[in-house]
Amino acid sequence: MKQVPLLIDGEFITSATDEFITVTNPANNTPITHTPCATESEMEGAIASATHAFSKWKNVPVTERARVMMRYQALLKVHHDEIATLLAQETGKTFDDAKGDVWRGIEVVEQAMNAPALMMGETVENVARGVDTYSVTQPLGVCAGITPFNFPAMIPLWMFPLAIVCGNTFILKPSEQDPLTPNRLAELFLEAGAPAGVLNVVHGGKEQVEPLLTDPRIKAVSFVGSVPVGQHIYRTATANMKRAQCFAGAKNHTVIMPDANKEHVLNNLVGASVGAAGQRCMAISVALFVGEAQQWIPELVARIAKVKPGLWDDEEAGFGPLISPQAKRRVLGLIQEAKEEGAECLLDGSTATVEGYEDGNWVGPTVFNKVTADMRIYTEEVFGPVLSCMSVDSLDDALTLVNNNPYGNGTSIFTNSGAAARKYQRNVEVGQVGINVPIPVPLPFFSFTGWKNSFYGDLHAYGKQAIRFYSETKTVTARWLEDDVPSGTNLTISLD
Ligand code: NAD
Repeated sequence: MKQVPLLIDGEFITSATDEFITVTNPANNTPITHTPCATESEMEGAIASATHAFSKWKNVPVTERARVMMRYQALLKVHHDEIATLLAQETGKTFDDAKGDVWRGIEVVEQAMNAPALMMGETVENVARGVDTYSVTQPLGVCAGITPFNFPAMIPLWMFPLAIVCGNTFILKPSEQDPLTPNRLAELFLEAGAPAGVLNVVHGGKEQVEPLLTDPRIKAVSFVGSVPVGQHIYRTATANMKRAQCFAGAKNHTVIMPDANKEHVLNNLVGASVGAAGQRCMAISVALFVGEAQQWIPELVARIAKVKPGLWDDEEAGFGPLISPQAKRRVLGLIQEAKEEGAECLLDGSTATVEGYEDGNWVGPTVFNKVTADMRIYTEEVFGPVLSCMSVDSLDDALTLVNNNPYGNGTSIFTNSGAAARKYQRNVEVGQVGINVPIPVPLPFFSFTGWKNSFYGDLHAYGKQAIRFYSETKTVTARWLEDDVPSGTNLTISLD
């Protein structure tokens, strides 16, 4: 079976390694391909190539860099269905969901096309007599990105187009669990006109990540993945004097006020909780019913029960399998523990399967009620199609519960009261808030702004913050002398 090639210095090469990770079809666990664990010399090759390419790429005019992104955006659109098919086959996502994964990435490329405007500096003329000050945006150098399995198109596209359009070069280390989609994205990037070495793709696991965190030629690291790995990457990268942004795990609550539009709530909660088999960092995993809204729980369960897992090309399937047998074991373990801890299981997907694909990593939609804040089903990120229902008496109680949770990626409130929505939005300690919108993932002209244990760093993904993350500001103070040359020595720090 063919192994996945590495992209080094503009060439797709076969790794010389003898260590591989097998990529399997999550619907039946048959092997699809092998992810090579790049050797030390291949890692060195990628870093050296990106370093060399930077010396030229940083001098390519920003308008030309933006035009590469324009061609890239057009190619991604032409190949949208084909990339989504590949993505669906290696992740198990349904075709429509896979198309969404690619589309949210294309939107970031569109943001990168706009880089010249985003990179504008500031100018103040005549800050002192004959003195002007202006700032310019310059690239950092080589940047690296380490990405998770759950969005193999969107998340690499959060990173390398914006880093590269700013004049940096980039090394991508995608998830070892679904490497084919990122490689296809890289092929199309070369087709769009990216010069050799501007984007390198290395494959493997944690051993391949280490040099990206320690090598002094790498200036900035972007990471998306789980909390323990995010903490390790943030600590190691910053200890090695690198800029780092690490997007990590989540526990997202939806607050349902009794005055909300019931139909809208129920329609939205189904997809937000079990869509993509719950393998979204913005999935709603806790439904927090305020007061009488808890009477809607049985109807919600009935609707969620209608959603069935299935194959990526089954139009009736609501979502696909989990990514791996380990992920399935973890989720089933948490479901079992919740039952033992006394949560009321209203819908149990533990034994779900798909005919003819019994060896797949299936977990059906699962709903618990009477979950308490000390149960592991609440304290842990489940990353499966499992919704925990909780009930509180008031909006203040809801705010207390959500704010006591250590994660802060996303949350939403459903209500018809502007005052309740505003109070929640102002006081909740979560970085992305939806009001009658279940999964508030911002479009790329804003930034993706997780808080607390969902993010380590300062500047977030995409939007203006990404331009800041992937560049340095240089501030120039200039005096051009005309006839009135100042006389005498200036012994102060004053510009006059
Ligand atoms: P993961 O942390 O296991 O892996 C992410 C990446 O880190 C992979 O490329 C992997 O090879 C690498 N890695 C794994 N262990 C490592 C180690 N010890 N040292 C260095 N690198 C290591 O995450 P995953 O299972 O692929 O993805 C799911 C997680 O990602 C969930 O926790 C989810 O919430 C999170 N996620 C967060 C966001 C966000 O924006 N906050 C978005 C998507 C996913």
